[in-house]
Amino acid sequence: MKTIAVELAYFLRGRARQNLKVLVLYCSFLLAIIILYAFLFQYLMLRLEGREFSIIASIYWVITVMTTLGFGDITFHSDPGYLFANLVTISGVVFLLILLPFGMVSLFLAPWIENRMRYRPTKGVPAGTSGHVVICGLDPVTRTLIRKLQAHGIPFFIATPLYEEAIRLEEDEGMQVVFGDPSEAEVLQKLRVETARCVIANLGVTEDINIILTVRSLCDTQIITLVDEPEHAQFLRLAGANQVIPLKKILGRYLATRATTQGALAHVLDSFGKLLIAELPVHGTLFVGKRLADARIREQTGLAVVGVWGRGSFAIPDRDTVLADDTVMVVVGTREHLEALERLTGEKAEEDLVLIIGHGRIGCSAATFLDSRPVPYILVDRATNPDCSEHIAVIGDATSRTILEGAAIDQAKGLIVTTNDDGANIFFTLACRRLNPHIRIVARANREENVDQLYAAGADFVVSNASVGANILMNILENKESIFLSEGMQVFRYPVPASMDGETIATARIRTLTGSTVIALERSEQKEPTILPTPDAVLSQDMTLILIGSPEQEARCREKLH
Ligand code: AMP
Ligand code: ZN
Repeated sequence: MKTIAVELAYFLRGRARQNLKVLVLYCSFLLAIIILYAFLFQYLMLRLEGREFSIIASIYWVITVMTTLGFGDITFHSDPGYLFANLVTISGVVFLLILLPFGMVSLFLAPWIENRMRYRPTKGVPAGTSGHVVICGLDPVTRTLIRKLQAHGIPFFIATPLYEEAIRLEEDEGMQVVFGDPSEAEVLQKLRVETARCVIANLGVTEDINIILTVRSLCDTQIITLVDEPEHAQFLRLAGANQVIPLKKILGRYLATRATTQGALAHVLDSFGKLLIAELPVHGTLFVGKRLADARIREQTGLAVVGVWGRGSFAIPDRDTVLADDTVMVVVGTREHLEALERLTGEKAEEDLVLIIGHGRIGCSAATFLDSRPVPYILVDRATNPDCSEHIAVIGDATSRTILEGAAIDQAKGLIVTTNDDGANIFFTLACRRLNPHIRIVARANREENVDQLYAAGADFVVSNASVGANILMNILENKESIFLSEGMQVFRYPVPASMDGETIATARIRTLTGSTVIALERSEQKEPTILPTPDAVLSQDMTLILIGSPEQEARCREKLH
């Protein structure tokens, strides 16, 4: 049954689909001719021979004559009638017995046979292949990961039990596909999982557990899975997964950190040991409009400003960089440094107010994160979240102005737009920016291609599900300990290579060689890392560099720093 459905599906794709339209048109034309002939038959019989026939009998006569069956039970007995019967027979032969079979063969049968002969889904990964990534389950996250794997030259194979998908991926997208169910040991052996770098199980929790158990019965290759429900993580780990990524939970935390506007400590994105990395909006602080040198942030708090964001673009600042109202600073420092900033600006997390539109899994995780800070927030969703008993949301369609006003859009300082509908997210961004021009808007893009539109609609920061998911997967695959700031920027660690022992940051030419910037130096026996070391800081082999740069710059570090 499945095979028949798969074969039938062939006729709904590409050229075959076009041809199907031609066939439908042709059949409509045939039907029109039959009906026309039937009425003519009725008319001629009455006028020439005075006999009356029903429309059913007329259609019966036309079909038997057109198909050359001619039972002979109804016949004309006059020359004009014979002429009409000849016309019907000849058009039947041409349209029904020649053109129709010819069209069926050339438009459908021949291309279908050709396709069957030409396409043989790959049945296995070539012998000797190793270090490849096996991907089970394609979605926007794994598709973005594939683009990264291609850019890094890492081989990968996609396992799919769907013949149609296998053809589409292999033929139309040029990917390497293995056709078969990845929860079967035989298929996993064909994928050579035992020599693979890792297996990514992304088919939903039940299928993933099946895959993991079968992989584990064969080998101990690394297995990474993505989960929607954080509580499923334990089952996947029990089955044998090495890494379980609760993506929606991470995304919620991500959005929440970026939507808060007050309380420097609430903005911490991540940490490297004692070193915290935070993103702080300049809006509302005493630094608005000042040059970085004049803001004296380093002198007053000890924090180093290592980057500045302006509506989706990142730059490494210098002394003359102006801190505009919509700038977001990326700062590095210790907890004490951030507390010093909080004292300086007099802002407290409790004085913030964040509006969250969308109380799905991501919105819920953002709210939980804000609870822990504690930053006050208001949740809005058009439906109650059946999986959450902790939060109370305002229920209503957020496209309505009264709902937004009821949710205190004019008093909120930050807004998280996180519905699963990008069209609605763009609308909310535009509408809320109009209602409250200074609000900090952090939006979720469910599809990568909507990131630019969300920025254009007025979002201060856009988080793309696919891109965050793919970055996390890539970091695990490459065994990297790095913090993903946003598409294009990350903070990562690199040990000082032996060749640089005794050199200074300037003479080691790290910036020239790799393009990335050293933001801190860690020394194993030293408790406090040195933040923003000066170019004459001397390097030694027991130190670790903490750098900021793009993934390409990071790759250059691995290439150039030995
Ligand atoms: P999730 O993908 O799990 O984060 O769920 C997305 C949430 O967005 C769901 O709870 C939806 O009810 C919610 N949502 C979708 N469209 C709207 C809308 N127009 N107004 C309010 N909430 C929405
Ligand atoms: Zn909740």
